[in-house]
Amino acid sequence: MNRQLFSHIDTWVFDLDHTLYPPQMALFDQIERKMTTYVMRELTVSQQEADQLRQNYWATYGTTLAGLMTHHAVDPIPYLEEVHDISFHPLQEDPDLRAALEGLPGQKIVYTNGTQPYAEKVLQARGLEGVFDAVFGIEHAEFEPKPRRRAFERVFRTAKLNPRKSAMFEDVPRNLIVPHALGMRTVHVAPQPETADHIHHHTNHLSTFLDTLREA
Ligand SMILES: [Mg+2]
Repeated sequence: MNRQLFSHIDTWVFDLDHTLYPPQMALFDQIERKMTTYVMRELTVSQQEADQLRQNYWATYGTTLAGLMTHHAVDPIPYLEEVHDISFHPLQEDPDLRAALEGLPGQKIVYTNGTQPYAEKVLQARGLEGVFDAVFGIEHAEFEPKPRRRAFERVFRTAKLNPRKSAMFEDVPRNLIVPHALGMRTVHVAPQPETADHIHHHTNHLSTFLDTLREA
């Protein structure tokens, strides 16, 4: 069933955080704490105010950084280096996921709102180094984040992918709206399903889902 729905796919696009590793591997908590520390220091606000600002910016602009750039002219490069300077020990290698990804026909791409160097470290900690044909970060979209259309368009143009022959895997439902509108097949990867017109499939276990696409 699934296999037929993906038979036209020649490009596989994966988000990174909470898509290529599960949220139970608590890596992102460290980044969130670093973002809060950054906002507290640079804007001279309390932790509570910093967390509130981050939540508002994430909801309104797609990332904390996008809000900081819009309202406080924050330089993205030192910010991104600081918040991604974390320990990768919470991540474990995933040979099943590696095998499932390697079994996919066509090119495989990572596209994250983090940075490419950060993504490479995550992939290495997951035992997924060398699996992907390209890794794109926020720096490849001029620091505009998913879910903005322009961000997807910039990255997809660089990747030379045909959205009608591509699939997008993501844990954040709103980041599937533009891919769906562009004609991609969309897969929501998360512990809990969410029903929406722009979500074609849901899975709570990525490698198991990918295995269903290649079974004869
Ligand atoms: Mg994610």
